[in-house]
Amino acid sequence: MPLLHSRVSRNTHRKLVDKVHQRLASWKSNLLSLAGRATLIQADHWISTGPLLSHSNNLTPEQLNCNINSFVADGWWDIGKLRSMLSEDLVQQIISSPVGFNSDLQDALIWKHAANGIFTVKTAYELLFANIHQIEPFWKLIWKLKIPPKIQIFFWLAYHDKISSNDQRAKRNLASDPSCGVCGWTSESVLHILRDCPRAQSIWISMITLPPSTQFFNTGLKTWIYSNLLLKTEWNAETPWNIGFVFTCWYIWKWRNQYVFNEEEPLPYSPKTVILKAAREWSSQAYAPQSKTSKTQVSLAWKPPVAGCFKLNVDGSRKSSNGNIGAGGVIRNSVGDWITGFTANLGKGQILDAEIWGLFFGLKLAAERGISNLTVEMDSATAVQLTQRSGSSSSHPLAGVISDCRKFIDQLGNCGVYHVYREQNCVADSLAQASYNGDLGVCPLDSAPDWICSLLDDDVRGVCKTRLICLDIS
Ligand SMILES: [Zn+2]
Repeated sequence: MPLLHSRVSRNTHRKLVDKVHQRLASWKSNLLSLAGRATLIQADHWISTGPLLSHSNNLTPEQLNCNINSFVADGWWDIGKLRSMLSEDLVQQIISSPVGFNSDLQDALIWKHAANGIFTVKTAYELLFANIHQIEPFWKLIWKLKIPPKIQIFFWLAYHDKISSNDQRAKRNLASDPSCGVCGWTSESVLHILRDCPRAQSIWISMITLPPSTQFFNTGLKTWIYSNLLLKTEWNAETPWNIGFVFTCWYIWKWRNQYVFNEEEPLPYSPKTVILKAAREWSSQAYAPQSKTSKTQVSLAWKPPVAGCFKLNVDGSRKSSNGNIGAGGVIRNSVGDWITGFTANLGKGQILDAEIWGLFFGLKLAAERGISNLTVEMDSATAVQLTQRSGSSSSHPLAGVISDCRKFIDQLGNCGVYHVYREQNCVADSLAQASYNGDLGVCPLDSAPDWICSLLDDDVRGVCKTRLICLDIS
């Protein structure tokens, strides 16, 4: 909000109003839940690219007024029918949308900028002013740097012009002469000590093959410190410039005091070597792994279910290059025999969409086959949590699919969903990767494809894969 010194006119808040309009438009287009919309084509702003109506040409009034149910076949999207009316790109966006096919959830506005999907003024404010508060305050910048605490405090004081210079002391009547104790310049300010005094300048010139900017010797104290602290480009042997800058200032201050108070002690033969060594020693310690945690290698393997029970492994996958998502899964018995499986090419979406849709299709398959006593394993901890959290997630963007998954779980009876590591979920992982090779939609696999047999064998034989995990030993 601007500070106002003149009369408020129509234009005063124009920028703010425009911004609000822009954001509201993005809400409409991106943030609406899709669950249970009455009509597909006419419903506005279904997907991020605007109303479907504007993308669909030459449709009859009957087609335009189709109920969503008429696009559903066998408990999921009727891809053939969608393709007959919409472009392939739109079909790919629609089928990964988190629609609940069996759920009785009501339509809801879902605010995607909060993890729980519930609108709050705080998240809206943050969104609105996201680009305005990017300038980090100095104290944050300095306390975040991995440098010795005594140097942090020194910088805090220097930035606020509070280190003890002759200029400062003269102003407080603690000294009569404000001039530089080294070169005799009329005023020994903080900036003179750290940058402009010839002794300091000679060190800077030896430090920098390049001054980081031509402004280096021409800016005021605060700008000079702030802008150099921000500069993280590599300076020397993997030490970033801002760390080099900090240590150089510190040594200039230290050596200046030695000169003034220890009878004109000369500078080291190579100041740069001394400064670089100190900066490197500190960073190697500061960035060393914390002593309180240690990594340990564990051996992980797929475990078959007990006799008479079944295990479903599912996984989702996303290609970052084009945003395609897919899922895959397999149901096996207590001796590791393939009962059934699937791959699903799900168009475009996010990785969590893929994981949850993978679970949906795996459970659906189990329900269709009348399988009970089912253990489900997946390597997405978030997806597992979502299925387990009871009740409160009706505003989650994936609420529709999650609700369907829960229904299947109840229906199957004696069914639990658990998290495993990816090393224990290799077959499902490979199926998910292979999903991109198939057409959009689900491809059931009644027998194991040849290419996956060696992975299945590994699981049956209990072959272990190693993984480094962090242990907290505090
Ligand atoms: Zn001087």
